[in-house]
Amino acid sequence: MTVEVRGRAGATDATDQLLVLYTGGTIGMAAGPDGALVPQDVSALAGSLHLLDDLPVGITIAAFDPPIDSAAIRPQRWLEIADAIVDLAGDHRAIVVLHGTDTMAYTASALSFLLEGVDRPIVVTGSQRPLVERRSDAERNLTAAAAFALLRDAGGAPAVPEVTVAFNDVLLRGNRASKVHASSFSGFASPNLPALGHSGVALTYEPQLVRRAGIGGLRRSSGLCTDVATLRLHPALDQATFEAVVLRPGLRGVVIEAYGAGNGPTEDWFLDGLRRASDSGVVALVTTQCHAGAVHAGQYATGAALFDTGAVPGADLTFEAALAKLMVVLDGRSYDETVELLQRDLAGELTP
Ligand code: ASP
Repeated sequence: MTVEVRGRAGATDATDQLLVLYTGGTIGMAAGPDGALVPQDVSALAGSLHLLDDLPVGITIAAFDPPIDSAAIRPQRWLEIADAIVDLAGDHRAIVVLHGTDTMAYTASALSFLLEGVDRPIVVTGSQRPLVERRSDAERNLTAAAAFALLRDAGGAPAVPEVTVAFNDVLLRGNRASKVHASSFSGFASPNLPALGHSGVALTYEPQLVRRAGIGGLRRSSGLCTDVATLRLHPALDQATFEAVVLRPGLRGVVIEAYGAGNGPTEDWFLDGLRRASDSGVVALVTTQCHAGAVHAGQYATGAALFDTGAVPGADLTFEAALAKLMVVLDGRSYDETVELLQRDLAGELTP
């Protein structure tokens, strides 16, 4: 894998610069010999990317080689994207990351936890149809992402200096976004936080929701722990499957997707298994299977029993943010430090 600057576009005499980082995804795909969509080299998109030429900024186009379908992404690529952003950001005013939609919310979440000192907009976007197709959402998403990235507040500072997802005319905090539709152009939602911006006749944003710009310079502050697992509770879950996941040798963290406000079964094998996992240093982070709302430890007896085992309530974390946060926070930290940080808002992922 390499990532390199592949071209320039936009206004050549502009002092303001925008970095566009292409990682793959449907936005950059075209039909292969069997009709299935495959990622194209960024050069195949060059003609279409010239729609950005109308912007009053210079544009640096950088690309990963090979570009990938984001369904094939691995955690290593999150680190590479974070490093590419840090390495290439320079004096670019903002960064737009072109990414597949399937795992966009995971990548946006991971970037929000991996990067510190975020002092400019990092807008992740993609599309449900390729940019090279006439009937596509790609052009609209790309132009809105660039516009949000370049938006300034009344004092001339970046309006939304955060990791965000721009899709179908809304700007969402990256670690609050989830892919909610496999085929609609309205593919993403942010169930527990209103949109940070809207693209309509006017381009608007919500200053009261936007995080303050980071200080100290944009940098990657952490690695990732990949010794993690996830487990979705369901009424037919059996002891053998459960133990195979949470008591796996070498495991350091597990996201448990519980019911409702953080409830689960009360059978001994379940509670004992969780207790044994916690006692051996495995951090169990509990999210809700509901599409919105939060985990509240102890609202029900079934939930209280679960949290008595040492499991950590994930409040209103999305599943994607929970997994990414757990992987980042576990890196190089003790059990106690991890448990403490998981319950602290690090990048706007938790509602206070
Ligand atoms: N499979 C594609 C991807 O995630 C889907 C998309 O981009 O819409 O790369």
